[in-house]
Amino acid sequence: MGIPLGPTRIFNRIVSGLRTLRFKLFLSYILISVIPLFVLWGIISITIENHLREQRLSELRSWTSQTAVFLSTTNFIQNPTARPMHAVHLGRDSASFSAGIFVADDMGVIIYDSQNPDDTGRLWANANIMAALDGSPGYSIDDGDGVLIQTAMPILDDDNNIIGAVMLAHNMTEAGGLIAGINSSTMWLIAAIAATVVLLVFIISSWLLNPLRNVLAAVKNISEGHLSQRIELKSKDEIAALSAAVNDMAQKLERTESARQEFVSNVSHELKTPLSSIKVLSESLLHKDDAETEIYREFLADIDSEVDRMTKIINELLTLVRLDEIELPLNITYFDLNNLLVDVVRRIRPLAELKAITIEFVANHQLSIDGDEMKLNLAISNIVENAVKYSYEGSKIQVLLDADAKNAFITVADSGIGIDEDDHDKIFARFYRADKGRDRETGGTGLGLAITHKTILMHKGSIKLSSKPEEGSIFTIRIPR
Ligand code: ADP
Repeated sequence: MGIPLGPTRIFNRIVSGLRTLRFKLFLSYILISVIPLFVLWGIISITIENHLREQRLSELRSWTSQTAVFLSTTNFIQNPTARPMHAVHLGRDSASFSAGIFVADDMGVIIYDSQNPDDTGRLWANANIMAALDGSPGYSIDDGDGVLIQTAMPILDDDNNIIGAVMLAHNMTEAGGLIAGINSSTMWLIAAIAATVVLLVFIISSWLLNPLRNVLAAVKNISEGHLSQRIELKSKDEIAALSAAVNDMAQKLERTESARQEFVSNVSHELKTPLSSIKVLSESLLHKDDAETEIYREFLADIDSEVDRMTKIINELLTLVRLDEIELPLNITYFDLNNLLVDVVRRIRPLAELKAITIEFVANHQLSIDGDEMKLNLAISNIVENAVKYSYEGSKIQVLLDADAKNAFITVADSGIGIDEDDHDKIFARFYRADKGRDRETGGTGLGLAITHKTILMHKGSIKLSSKPEEGSIFTIRIPR
């Protein structure tokens, strides 16, 4: 058994139902289909009613004229004794016209009333009778309970003097009945159309909205962490485009997540290695009773270099993390690129001399650019340091500055160990080292090129590698001027 719904929950459900796309669609369809029907209904009933009124009015007028002639020729006004005889005729007419017949003398006193034959002799100040007594036909249409139509005509004697007036009064109830009939059938029609619209909207909205529901369910699933979730593309409409975009997003999230996991495991692994060395070195020192000072020194020097290595990894990681912070803007200044390269070469030269390597700097241009000088210095230093690290003793390294109208090109060429073709794409990834064994000896962390790559991308530039094992490597950096 489900939990009974309280009034608040019922209210909330209704409110959230009203906010759905299905309800909005439903409302639009209803408005589009039912409003014109109501308007049409109004126009038709008004037209019919007016037509019926006009028709009735003209009928009554002609009957009133006929009655006025009858009353003249029979001397109804002048000859009271013959009145009862003629009243029988008037009574029949009243029934066949379905109208009351009133006859007034020249003073406006009622001398015949078909509805109340005994109620005569009263004065009736009726506007239409008054108009007829004045010589012009009078008529009125009054909307009250029904529609009351009155038409009056003067009664003339042989000399054309007005001697009285006759009025027909008709209550147009049958028009009301007709209109009520039209109204009720129109209501039924509107109800039938509304019901059809409800049904159609239900079917159409399910057809339109079900794919959207699938997208929603998939997005929810993805946001809960099921990054392998994909939406099946069944059509080529906007919803399919949305689904494709969601699939794309999920794929990128999946890739980022796996890169993150790999990165974390790489970091842990990279830090674990020096830590294990430190642990082994310190434990063996602890367990060596009265070891010689020389041994202590040697082990402590090893521990010291492992600590240096960890510090280096952590510093480089911090640099990368800072580059990853998108909000952190580049500190752009206009600076002399030649000076920067001269500075990089000057700083690295002592390191190269340890391996009897010569570094040559060739500048084909004198050039200043807009960029983050410090970050570019670090980025280019990483490449030149690598050239030294991965070159043989006594070899040569060339740093070349070139430019075209749009870009500056910095090329660093060495004739060192080179990089296998398969590794060309991978060496810019974090912690990637082409030759793990050798890099450990060179003190590499696998983070330098990742930092360089990121920095160059942030400057909207690019970095290219051409290299063959045992022949050397050429890194070309392009930076827009
Ligand atoms: P590392 O700190 O290990 O040098 P990098 O990210 O700077 O890390 O370089 C990644 C890998 O690319 C290096 O481990 C090395 O295998 C390879 N590499 C980089 N530069 C060169 C080069 N000039 N010659 C040969 N191999 C290189």
